[in-house]
Amino acid sequence: MNFYIMTLFPDMVMQGLTTSITGRAMQKKLIQIEAVNIRDYTTEKHGQVDDYPYGGGAGMVMQAEPIYRTWEAITGRIGKRPRVVYMTPQGSVFHQGMAQEFAKEEDLIILCGHYEGVDERILDLIVTDQVSIGDYVLTGGELPAMVMVDCISRLVPGVLNNQESAEFESFHENLLEYPQYTRPEVFMGMRVPEVLLSGHHARIDAWRQEQSVKRTKERRPDLFPGVE
Ligand code: SAM
Repeated sequence: MNFYIMTLFPDMVMQGLTTSITGRAMQKKLIQIEAVNIRDYTTEKHGQVDDYPYGGGAGMVMQAEPIYRTWEAITGRIGKRPRVVYMTPQGSVFHQGMAQEFAKEEDLIILCGHYEGVDERILDLIVTDQVSIGDYVLTGGELPAMVMVDCISRLVPGVLNNQESAEFESFHENLLEYPQYTRPEVFMGMRVPEVLLSGHHARIDAWRQEQSVKRTKERRPDLFPGVE
């Protein structure tokens, strides 16, 4: 899967995503991530990409033209017009199901805003999806884009090895994951639940399922409408 991230801070995005699992997936060519600097596509003398908002008010707004030219350069080069996701606190809130849907795409373009956001006309022209990572306001779309790329990449076949499989993680079948323990058996007087040491796989599976349901009921009843 190929991600093209339109941003004013390409180093920030690449430094984060070239580490750990996404970095390894890039090396194995399972995913490709390119951060494209919007500033490279401005025609203004001093590299300006923002301007004052019409109608007045605080802050600056990212201009439509450099973003449009960045998008033209990407789509021209790849010869396709993939979905374009604008990261914005005004978008639909990102969740695992959305990640599964995006993971079906071969290419995805992500637009990161900054300052007060972007000129509305660019949204009408090129943006297909508007996504928020939660009900709070961040400085820029870079961290949200990294969150999205990380989450989607985990679902690309081959990115996670068997031990890291996404199949048993939280939100699979709308359940939170069961509690996990590792060595030693006793830590500060606290014992690992006996069932996990039993070697009895059916009992372990039943215990984990029960714990997942209990945890989901307690912490996220909204995920699991069938549970009172
Ligand atoms: N003035 C905008 C508003 O009230 O909707 C907020 C602009 S914010 C300071 C700058 C940029 O950060 C946004 O254009 C967006 O790309 C990104 N951003 C901030 N919070 C976000 C969130 N919760 N989810 C996704 N992107 C976010």
